[in-house]
This record gives sequence, structure tokens and C-alpha cells, in this order.
Amino acid sequence: MLRELFINLCLLISIHYVLRFTFRSWPTPRRGLPHAARLAAFAAASLLLLLFPAHPAPGVVVDLRAVPVAFVTLYFGGWAGLITALPVIAYRVWLGGVGVYAAVPSLLAVIAVAALLRRRLPAVGPLFWPHWPGLILIFGVNGLPLLLLPGGPQLFAQVYPLLLLTNVLGALIAWGILSERFHVLRLTSQWQSAAMTDPLTHLGNRRQFDLDLTAMGPGDALLLVDIDHFKRVNDTFGHPVGDEVLQEVAQVLQREGRGRDRAYRYGGEEFAVILRDVPETSLTRVAERLRLAVQQLPLPVINHPVTVSIGAASWRPISPAQLVERADEALYRAKAGGRNAVCLWTPAAAAPTPTETRAVQG
Ligand code: GH3
Ligand code: MG
Ligand code: MG
Repeated sequence: MLRELFINLCLLISIHYVLRFTFRSWPTPRRGLPHAARLAAFAAASLLLLLFPAHPAPGVVVDLRAVPVAFVTLYFGGWAGLITALPVIAYRVWLGGVGVYAAVPSLLAVIAVAALLRRRLPAVGPLFWPHWPGLILIFGVNGLPLLLLPGGPQLFAQVYPLLLLTNVLGALIAWGILSERFHVLRLTSQWQSAAMTDPLTHLGNRRQFDLDLTAMGPGDALLLVDIDHFKRVNDTFGHPVGDEVLQEVAQVLQREGRGRDRAYRYGGEEFAVILRDVPETSLTRVAERLRLAVQQLPLPVINHPVTVSIGAASWRPISPAQLVERADEALYRAKAGGRNAVCLWTPAAAAPTPTETRAVQG
């Protein structure tokens, strides 16, 4: 039996080496087709282990089929564990033999204990081995029903210790492989998001903007937003207050957007906003809404309103750099026209003119 269980253990480890590729992003999506396919893969793994069992007595088959099922239960919950176990239980019942009466309750008990321990036993983490006591609890119930079979106590003494040992060892190694994968995915996702986020305003940074800019299409528009006389804020109230103002303006720009609209910190006191599905005729109105929202921002730290100038350009089949150039040209015009204004780049007037939207200061 030792030999067969050792082969089963090797199989379990190899299978988990492959199963880890079913986890491709962090956090793990828990719905849809990929999720269903992943559960099916774990069920197939469990079935495969059942195909190469040890036979300690006639009608009794012993293997590590409970390990993938226990993992699914710990990671995705009791129902997912039960769904994964169903084909395994069906196949075991079809195989028949007296061992069925121990096999089915064993697997259900493993699912029940794993579901109960779910909140306490993390199924992720680079160092999974400290959780071995939890694994003893989960796999401790596996094989207990052997005691109820004819000649049970003798069979139990022969099978149970080795089964428990291989299950716990197998789970530690197999889940260690998965945990390593989760660790890498989690770190990659954290660094990726850090690399794309401006640490001060938590908006997408220039790198994220450049990426999204290339994905713009018909119906989209670009706004370049520059805070007016921001240097004065810094000079009068100090850099930390300037930083606070930048954060407030950033929040307003993001909040005022709709649907898939997204604001970015373009650099310094300049922001970019990519607007989606905005008709060219509405672009000035939308940009005006943003300008007004900034102007109406209560800023007790500086005790006077902050204003922005906005250059707007609708998407055209030109290069991303040319689109930015157009918005920048329009922004320059808004500044030159006296600031606190929206200026739309229009193809008719190669040199754009500021719209009549400048608000009365003060
Ligand atoms: P304009 O209306 O022409 O845009 O004038 P301005 O003063 O806003 O523009 P200018 O380019 O002269 O100054 C921009 C200022 O923004 C200078 C710089 O110190 C400040 N700034 C850039 N990044 C930060 C930042 O992260 N924090 C703070 N507090 N200030 C910043
Ligand atoms: Mg400025
Ligand atoms: Mg500027």
C-alpha cells in the first residue's frame, strides 16, 4: 500500500504543478467560464488520483482524492467543494464495493471540516507549512468511517495512519505549489498597480495615461486640465498645502467623470481626462462641468477657489501624440485667453479660440 500511495502522492504533486496555471490573475475571479473550468480541472485531478489507488482490502480503494476537493472548499467555499466532489463520488459509487460506505461519508466530512475551517486556515500564502495542524483536522476525518466496515478496526489500523500522513504531506506540498503561484500573482498585481498609479493623487499616472491614450477610439475625447497660478498656492501656503489642493482637484476630476471616463495625473499640476462616448457637440458642456466643479470646490486650507484651464480635443484617426498636441494647443489658448476657461480644438479654425465660458472671478 505504501508503494501505491507514494505513486499517488507523486501524481498529486505533478497535477498541482499543472493546476497552478489555471490561476492567471489576482485576485482570483470567482465566476464565469474560467471559474467553472477551474473547478472542473480540480474535479478531474481528484478523479485521476482515484484511478491509481491502493487496494488495502477487497472493495476498498485508498488514494489522495480528498486533497483537491479540500483545497477547492478552503479557497472557494463549501458549495464549490461539493460540486467538485460530485463526479468523484459518482465514480466511486460506480466502482462499488464495500468501501463505498466509508468513501462517500469520508469525502463529505472533509468538505464539512474544510468549510468550517475556511475562515481560519488561509489557502494562500508563500509559507503554507505552518498550517499543518489545520490539515490534520481536515484530513483527520478522512478514513474514520472505515471503522464501521466489516473488519473495520483492523482495516482502520492498517490504512488510517498512512492515509493521514500522505494526505497532510500531499496537501502541504501541493498547496505550497499553488501558494507560490498566488504569491507571485499578488506581488505582480501590486507592483503593476503601483507602477501605473500616482502616489499623491491615486489617479492613473502618465504611464497609465499613455497606455489608455493608445486605446482611444471614435466617440472618445481628451481633456488636458491645468491648475491656474498654482505656483502662487505653493508660494503662499507651502508645498504640503499645494499637495492637498492637488489631491482635492484630482478627486473632483475623477468624481465628475461618468462610466468609463478616467482622470490621470499628467504631471505636476496638470491632469488629463479621457472621456468616453461624448458627442463632439457636448464636449464643451462636459468640460465646463468639470471646470465649474473645481471652481466650486470648498478649500478651507487656502480660503479661496482654485480654478483650472481646460483644453479639449475629440478623438480623430490621428496619432495619440497628435491628439495630445491638439488638446495642449487648446489648453494654451485657454491660458492665453485669461485662464479659468475651456477651449475646444476645432478643425475649422486651425488656431482654436476659447469658448465664451470664462467665469467671473471671485
Ligand atoms: P499657470 O496658470 O500658467 O498654469 O501657472 P502655474 O503657476 O500653475 O504654472 P507653473 O508651471 O508656473 O507652476 C506650476 C507649479 O506646480 C510649480 C510647481 O512647484 C508646482 N508643482 C508641480 N508638481 C507639484 C506637486 O507635486 N506638489 C506641489 N505642491 N506642487 C507642485
Ligand atoms: Mg498651472
Ligand atoms: Mg502646468
